[in-house]
Formats: sequence, C-alpha cells, structure tokens
Amino acid sequence: MPMATRIHKEQPSSIGCKQMTKGLLLVNTGDGKGKTTAALGTAMRCAGHGLKVCFIQFIKGSWKYGELDAVKCFADTIDFHVMGRGFTWKSDDLEKDRAIARKGWQIAEQAILSDRYYLVVLDEFTYLLNYEMIDLPSAMAVIRQRPPNRHVMITGRNAPEPLVAAADLVTEMKAVKHPFAAGIKAQKGIEF
Ligand code: ATP
Ligand code: MG
Repeated sequence: MPMATRIHKEQPSSIGCKQMTKGLLLVNTGDGKGKTTAALGTAMRCAGHGLKVCFIQFIKGSWKYGELDAVKCFADTIDFHVMGRGFTWKSDDLEKDRAIARKGWQIAEQAILSDRYYLVVLDEFTYLLNYEMIDLPSAMAVIRQRPPNRHVMITGRNAPEPLVAAADLVTEMKAVKHPFAAGIKAQKGIEF
C-alpha cells in the first residue's frame, strides 16, 4: 500500500502538512456571504509569504470595491485584474460581457499555465461557466495542465458539478442570515 494512503487512514490530520504537498483546486461556493473575501484573505496570506498571486475578478466592475485599493499595498506580489462591468442579470449588452469574459479567461489561462504564480484566483468564475461564456471542459483541461504545486481558487455561487468533483477543497458558504433581508443596504468595508 502506498505510504500516503496508509497514513491517511491512520492519521488523517497529518496528511498535507508533513507527508505530501499538492497544487490544489479550491472552490468557494454557496449562497452565503464570504466567498470572495475568503479568496482575498488567502491571497493576502500568500503575499505575506512573498508568494505571487494572480487575482482575476470576473463579473464585478461597476462598484468601487475596497479591495481594488487595498491590493495596491501588495502590488509586488498580487497582480489584480478586474474583468467585468457588473452583474450579468443587470447587463444591457451580453455580447460585451462575453467579450470581456473571454479576455479575462485569456489572462487566466496564461496565468495558470505560466508557472509565474503560486496561486491564481478566478473570482465569480462559476457565473461564466453557468452562463456558458466559457466552456467548462476546456477550462478544466487548462486547470489540470497547470504546473505542479500551483493552486487555483474559484469562487461563485452554484459551482457546476464537474468542477466540484475535480476540486480538492470545496467550501459551501451557507446563508443563515443576511442584512439584505432586513432591508439593510450594502455597506462600505463589509460588502464592497
Ligand atoms: P463577499 O464578497 O462579501 O465575500 P460573496 O463573494 O460570498 O461575498 P457573492 O455571491 O459574490 O458574495 O455576492 C456579492 C454580494 O452579494 C456581496 O456584497 C454579498 O454581501 C451579497 N450577498 C452574499 N450573500 C447574500 C445573501 N444570502 N443575501 C443577500 N446578499 C448576499
Ligand atoms: Mg463574490
């Protein structure tokens, strides 16, 4: 029996820290809040180790998110791209959105395959897959071809099943309560 398998059965908590490392595919999904902010936290954690991150925000673009300025403090380590004009269901021009999505995916593809980045984050990428702006099997093939020990994190609601199946780590944020339901509007530093 391979060593890693035996250790996993006997001491699950030790796997990953001492015995082996692996480039991970991580997915933050679900209808609760925290998917993008968790990705930003991970990017910041990498930056603290001097590990390069490529963070691509798809979809978003119409609001001034605090992270846009905050990541400038990590400009040496985090390359941040905003590739969107706002949420698609508000869009007045789906073709324009598709073109921006494809451009964003080109940047993502190069970043994933380049070996330049320890972590590549595709924020709100599940929407591009679900709206069929990006072909899921092609995207999965690129992610699979990434160099060893390189991590890819994808965020967004309704992660497609094949993505969940291929991922090493999937976290589903569950909405238990959200201030929007009580009529409280989005607030600086909390939502944007
Ligand atoms: P965050 O960016 O705060 O980590 P998120 O990435 O999990 O949130 P998205 O699904 O990308 O959330 O949605 C973006 C916005 O929608 C955020 O401003 C968030 O506060 C809000 N939101 C998230 N979950 C809910 C919910 N259950 N009800 C209403 N609004 C929500
Ligand atoms: Mg988000």
